[in-house]
Amino acid sequence: MIGRIHKISGNSYEVRAGDLLLRCRFRGRLKRERLHALKPAAVGDDVEVTPVPGGEGVIERVLPRRSKLSRHDVMRPSVEQVIVANVDALVLVQAARDPEFSTLALDRCTVMAAANGLPCVICANKVDLAVPDLSAYERAGFRCVRVSARTGEGLDDLRAVIRGRTVVMVGPSGVGKSSLLNALEPGLGLKVGEVSRRGEGRHVTSWVELLPVAGGVAADTPGMELFTLWNVTASNLKEFFLEFAELAAECRFRNCSHTVEEGCAVRGRVAESRYRSYLEIMETLRRARGERG
Ligand code: GDP
Ligand code: ZN
Repeated sequence: MIGRIHKISGNSYEVRAGDLLLRCRFRGRLKRERLHALKPAAVGDDVEVTPVPGGEGVIERVLPRRSKLSRHDVMRPSVEQVIVANVDALVLVQAARDPEFSTLALDRCTVMAAANGLPCVICANKVDLAVPDLSAYERAGFRCVRVSARTGEGLDDLRAVIRGRTVVMVGPSGVGKSSLLNALEPGLGLKVGEVSRRGEGRHVTSWVELLPVAGGVAADTPGMELFTLWNVTASNLKEFFLEFAELAAECRFRNCSHTVEEGCAVRGRVAESRYRSYLEIMETLRRARGERG
């Protein structure tokens, strides 16, 4: 039968197949063949399983992926680590307040989406506390939703985003990702942390898990703010600011970096905050490359 990996703990793969929930292991042979890979499969992978008695199963093979969200492996930065496979969209969550809305963090996430070839939706939570200004994003063509996990405002818009899809919730801790999933699916009972826990290096929940939410599937990603930009370099960064790429066709310079060139068609025409993020992310990428040599 065909199922989907919802969770991985050590060598144990939790596979959902229809109404069944199976604790699975890889067939030994397959495991050896895939030893070169970091993990033989990722959360979100579709797999062929043979059920065995006792709610367990054996994974026979991994089906081809249609998409993936990756980062650099923490221990081996040149190695790709797939965080979630078969993703339809990223939901980029920021809080209107508490913690303060960060355009830089959000823009980094839009780059991550674009570099992984994934669409994204911007989700401003905690609109009960403040009115977020998303005009720059709306002008740049991003789909935006404004929600409050606390009051329930806007949750139907978020439901419509998730229904029938696999989405990954991405954003700094404390913005309300778990609260939103709980609000959409009260049965989940996800632990909700406190904003004050940020920066302590302690994650309230552990690693990625797929959850059935609002007629779709959502992955919560604790610690996502530390995620690296797989595939992104200082020189290709401009391709992942999608609204820049549209204007770049009008640029006089074929290989314009949109930084120092006189008469650049991009600089000055895109939203200032997006342009500032572009320069800052580029600087971070340059420094990281310098450190790695
Ligand atoms: P996560 O780290 O992104 O999963 O954030 P949590 O879901 O753990 O929420 C962090 C804090 O924000 C908790 O104290 C929540 O009660 C609070 N919170 C979440 N959503 C809202 C909201 O819509 N409005 C307000 N005022 N607080 C919220
Ligand atoms: Zn330019």
